[in-house]
Amino acid sequence: MYVGRFAPTPSGPLHFGSIVTAVGSYCDAKSRNGKWIVRIDDLDQARTVRGADSDILYMLDSYALHWDGRAIYQSRQRYVYESWRHKLKEELDIYPCVCSRKKIREHSTLQNEEWIYSGYCKTHSTKNKIIRSYRINLRQGCTVAIDDAVLGSITDDLNKSSGDFVLFKPDGTVSQHLANVLDDHHSGITHIVRGEDLLLSSLRQSEIRRILGHNNPKFLHLPLVRNKAGQKLSKQNKAEPIKSELASSTLFDALTFLSQSPPIELQREKPSDIMIWAVGNWKIPNVFSKKTNTKDAAVTQSTRNQVD
Ligand SMILES: [Zn+2]
Repeated sequence: MYVGRFAPTPSGPLHFGSIVTAVGSYCDAKSRNGKWIVRIDDLDQARTVRGADSDILYMLDSYALHWDGRAIYQSRQRYVYESWRHKLKEELDIYPCVCSRKKIREHSTLQNEEWIYSGYCKTHSTKNKIIRSYRINLRQGCTVAIDDAVLGSITDDLNKSSGDFVLFKPDGTVSQHLANVLDDHHSGITHIVRGEDLLLSSLRQSEIRRILGHNNPKFLHLPLVRNKAGQKLSKQNKAEPIKSELASSTLFDALTFLSQSPPIELQREKPSDIMIWAVGNWKIPNVFSKKTNTKDAAVTQSTRNQVD
C-alpha cells in the first residue's frame, strides 16, 4: 500500500512553496488510494517556533488537505530512535568532529550552497577537544542511487556531493537525516514527494537506508517555487504566509504551478471540491511538462502578493 507523508518544520507558517509540496504529495497519495501522513519535524528545538505546528495543521485542514491518523511529532518519537540505538551503534561507521562552523568553512568547499565537509577530523587528532557532532564515515566510491518518478534513476557519489555528514549530536540525539530515515521506516513510508532542493537529502538518507537494510521509497522531487530574485520561497527569505480565507485561489494557483491545468471555474469552488478534482486529475508527467517553475507563470492576480 502507498504511504506518503508531508513533513513540515514548524519554524514558521506555511507559504506558497510549502502548499505546492503539500498538494503534490497529497494528490500523489490519494490518487493511488494511499495513506497520507503529516509529520511535524520539530527535533531541532532552536528552529521550532511556538504555535507554528498548530498553525500549520489548521491551515492544512482549511485547505482540505486532511491527513490520516494523528499528526506525528518527531520530538515525541524518541522511543523509536532509542529502539534503534543498539543497531545504529553496530552498523553505522561514525567519528567525532570537533570543527566549529568557522573551521568547517575554512577547510571545506562550497557547492550549491552546501559546505562539503573535507573529513578534517578523520586525519587530525580530536583528543581533549569539545566534540560538536558525530559524522558518518562514508565508504570510498559512495555511489548512491534513488528512483524518481520523473527524473528516473539518479546516482551520485556522496564523497563529491556531500562529504561526511552529521548523524548524531554530542549528547547522542539523532540528526535530522537519521531521524527522517527511522521515522519513515516506522511509519512504513513507501513514497516521498518533496521539493527538488532536497535531492541531496534524499541521496544522503538513502545511504543510511542502505546501511540499515531499509527499502528505499520511491521519490518525486517537485520543481521549486522561486521569488523574483530567483530564490526559493522560504521562511528565511520571508515568504508571505498563506491565508485560510484565500484557500480556494491558492489551491488553484498551486495546481496551476504543478501544470495540472485546473479549469478556471474551479477557483470559485470550495477547497474540498478543488481537492477532489485535483486527486481525480493528478498527472505526474504534467508536473515537468512545461517550464512553470517561475511563479509568475503560474500565480494568478488573486494571490500574487502572497508569493512576491
Ligand atoms: Zn571536524
